[in-house]
Amino acid sequence: MAKQSLPTTNFDYEFGGPVGAFATMCSLPVVIVLLILWADLGYISFDFDELEAVFVSLGGTDLSSYKLSVCILFSWVAGCVLLTALLPCTIHSGVQISPTGGGKKFSLKYLLNGHLQFWTTLLALFLGCSLNFSRKLLADCTQTASTTSSYLSYFTASASSCASPNQTQNYFYAVSFGSPFPLLSLLHGLLLPLSIVTVVFSAFVSVLLYVKSFSKGAVLAPGGDSGNLVYDLFIGRELNPRLVKDPETSKSKHNYVFNNLAHFDLKEFFELKPGLIAWVVLNLAMLSAQHSNLGYTSGSMILLNLNQALYVWDALYNEISILTTMDITTDGFGFMLMFGDLAWVPFTYSIQGYYLVKHDPMLSLPSLALIACLNVLGYKIFRGANTQKDVFRRNPTSEACKDWNYIDTKRGTKLLTSGWWGVARKVNYTGDWLMGLSWCLTCGFGSVVPYFYAIYFAILLVHRSIRDDHFCAVKYGDDWGRYKEKVPYRFVPLIF
Ligand code: NDP
Repeated sequence: MAKQSLPTTNFDYEFGGPVGAFATMCSLPVVIVLLILWADLGYISFDFDELEAVFVSLGGTDLSSYKLSVCILFSWVAGCVLLTALLPCTIHSGVQISPTGGGKKFSLKYLLNGHLQFWTTLLALFLGCSLNFSRKLLADCTQTASTTSSYLSYFTASASSCASPNQTQNYFYAVSFGSPFPLLSLLHGLLLPLSIVTVVFSAFVSVLLYVKSFSKGAVLAPGGDSGNLVYDLFIGRELNPRLVKDPETSKSKHNYVFNNLAHFDLKEFFELKPGLIAWVVLNLAMLSAQHSNLGYTSGSMILLNLNQALYVWDALYNEISILTTMDITTDGFGFMLMFGDLAWVPFTYSIQGYYLVKHDPMLSLPSLALIACLNVLGYKIFRGANTQKDVFRRNPTSEACKDWNYIDTKRGTKLLTSGWWGVARKVNYTGDWLMGLSWCLTCGFGSVVPYFYAIYFAILLVHRSIRDDHFCAVKYGDDWGRYKEKVPYRFVPLIF
């Protein structure tokens, strides 16, 4: 059995403790659904009848939509696992981990091939769309899958399907009016049921992860081992759940796939692959649906797709950087990250695109250019700071770091005080937020709904910076105070 849980009293709870964790788990799925309904409407509404009508029109009460969504979700996650196992990869060591309750420090190896997976998925999607593969596949399905045949027959019914019932109309208008990418438009039409199915799946996996955390040898995250079921399920009890417990001893000489899977880290996988790549695919679905809906693809939609794809590409291109982030080194893997990675990120981060499908603000070229500049500025700060820290953490004595200032600490790890890290202690968050703001601005000022991201992200980053400040104060003691004196501002020099 894993180490005994700590008593619930005296535990340093975050997120409002068990009550806060429970409230968060119940409320965030509702927020996803509301955002989708509001983005479709184009404004915030609390009129129950109005919301119910949109819910129905978006397939929220249609059983066949849920069945298809389950198929899509399972195929997607399974496809991502397969690509992770099959594509060429590099294996990298993570930071040193101190097991809970003492014991020898160790570092885990991680299988990295997210960047290749990103391009492989997009290429497959492109080929699928351009060869009209999807239509043929769906037509074939109608002969074999009796349960979905009535549903899919709408899809092949061409223009006549315009008169189909409300909830099905959504998926098929794209085909009927000649969508360039019918499969993508199908995803747009299924967004609501797909999001609900993903939430349920995330919750189910979180429960499995919680149960797995009691298996022999599991290394626990100190912050997720309170002994309170609800809280630990939310935060995540096990630090690095893996498919294979002891990769070195179970390595096979000849089996490439097995050896890859031996380093398959569930948290790293869900953090970077199915959710993030799904976000880009959903954005493309919005682009395709906008074309079907409005008859054109707007500048806002193109810019949004490019900017958000850059963000995802960057995360996967710099996959190695994730190994030094708080999510990997400190937090357990539970509902917070599982739901966040697989449900929250793709379905709420794509909400601007969803809004633009029906509510294009027709921004002028100069406005779009200004927004693009803001995104570039944010990206420069975000990438500059994260790369600096990553290079420094990997090898502070390397040639690249020779002119950088830092302070030595009793803990042994140095703290950078020059470059971006001399500007503000969380300047990487500032850059990230500026990019997020630029995405919202592509939707104009017609509604507050697409600004949800900037508002939510500001709250997340402030809260996250407080958490990290607390962790660092514990890790570094007095040295953290010395560092804060040298770099007094958190986000923006002289202001915040
Ligand atoms: P950081 O990358 O800032 O990592 C925090 C850790 O960095 C600290 O715990 C400390 O760990 C180390 N550190 C802090 N200050 C210094 C310093 N001066 N010199 C060297 N090391 C230092 O935070 P996150 O992991 O939270 O975020 C990483 C990126 O991911 C950010 O850019 C953030 O914006 C982004 N992000 C995006 C989210 C999204 O939903 N889009 C969600 C969350 C994050 P130690 O000393 O132990 O190495």
